Amino acid sequence: MERYFKRKASCLAENEINWDEEIKYDLGLRKEIDSYHPNLREKVRRKYLENGPCQPRGINFPLLKIGDKEKPRRFMREWFDEFGPWLEYSETKQKAYCFYCFLFREKKDAGYDAFVVNGWDGFHRKERLRSHIGEVGGLHYNAMKECDEQVSATTTVERCFSAMKIVKTSLSNRMGDEHLSHRLICYIEKEEMKKVSNEAVVHHFMTMEEKGSKYDL
Ligand SMILES: [Zn+2]
Repeated sequence: MERYFKRKASCLAENEINWDEEIKYDLGLRKEIDSYHPNLREKVRRKYLENGPCQPRGINFPLLKIGDKEKPRRFMREWFDEFGPWLEYSETKQKAYCFYCFLFREKKDAGYDAFVVNGWDGFHRKERLRSHIGEVGGLHYNAMKECDEQVSATTTVERCFSAMKIVKTSLSNRMGDEHLSHRLICYIEKEEMKKVSNEAVVHHFMTMEEKGSKYDL
């Protein structure tokens, strides 16, 4: 019986996960993306992206003695603005992390260890943050691109669904899928539609009808 429960805990299905509990805002408490079943990783990433990076701006960043340096240093709040949305800070670990690399970095190398697994606290060497960003095409850069793509894909889906709520009135419920999707495209791309004259639209739809497209209105 005990073995059964152990097995179950290691491969949780989507509906067995309490997402509020699972998606930890504080980095000290997060599970690595790779520890989830491959089918779940996209959803976990989406949940984290919805939450956004952990950037606690209102706290007092403690002064820490770093290695054998004389002068204690602290994380600077301004770095969130200077380096942008990838930079995270964990209050419990008192270290900085990378949101993009946590979510999408492919190669689990030294950069991954420093900014995802162990956290970074070399606060006397701010240039390390710049070198973490690295070059175009580098590991951090690719992770950032993946994040951007995921966010814009989610935004497009949300845009379509909210448009569907508006376009799908009781009258449109009686339309066939094809006609409904034409209306939906016209609505979603309304900025583009403004460039087209009404006559052109009427002409286009009339030609479609002549060609045999039936609207089951
Ligand atoms: Zn990174």
